[in-house]
Amino acid sequence: MSRVQQLYQLQMLDSEVDKTNQQLAEITSQLGESEALKQAKAQAEAAERQLRQAQATMQNLNLEVQSLTQKIAQQEKTLYQGKALSPKEATNLQDEIASLKRRQSQREELLLEAMVGAEEAEQQLEQTQAKLVAIQTDWQSDQEHLAEQQTALKNKLHDLKQQRPVMVKVIDPDDLAEYEDLRPRKAGRAVAVIKDGICLGCGVGASSSRIQHARAGTELIYCGTCGRILYVA
Ligand SMILES: [Zn+2]
Repeated sequence: MSRVQQLYQLQMLDSEVDKTNQQLAEITSQLGESEALKQAKAQAEAAERQLRQAQATMQNLNLEVQSLTQKIAQQEKTLYQGKALSPKEATNLQDEIASLKRRQSQREELLLEAMVGAEEAEQQLEQTQAKLVAIQTDWQSDQEHLAEQQTALKNKLHDLKQQRPVMVKVIDPDDLAEYEDLRPRKAGRAVAVIKDGICLGCGVGASSSRIQHARAGTELIYCGTCGRILYVA
């Protein structure tokens, strides 16, 4: 294997490592709660709060109606069965009873509204919970799939990283140093293939003498435009 061919092989491996790392980063960013899931959870929580509120309102009104009913019964008892009242006292009591009854009927109307409100809130909660379950189910299966992909990519990365020292061992230390120095400065690609006279690193044609020297592979030939090491496949 020529010097440049060894570097090209290393380049292929390193590019594969880069690609695998990118894929891993992409998958890692997708792990965890999705926006749709967060939104569905928030909606279900809001619906639950609303239902609790509606139920509390209903309960308060119910208690108030009960207490008014008792009060009215007491006053009526005083009016009709109690000790003798003066006409003025009787009139006052009748007025009071009438006022309590008006209040009671108002509260009963509000109670009816509150019951309708609670029923609607309950339906809303059922709907949001059903939606949440559906989204959660999809999300769960997505996450499992992503976790599998993550494991596969991690295994692949592990294999590639084990291959690297074996490959590097046979490369001339100066060539390796040159490659390591060049790669970060050339967007991860220190070695570029020449195809049909064109450097695939930059897309510019290389002179025939450069191509000839590169093909021989005995010394490192650089692209005159992008500065990458040229490899003729
Ligand atoms: Zn080039």
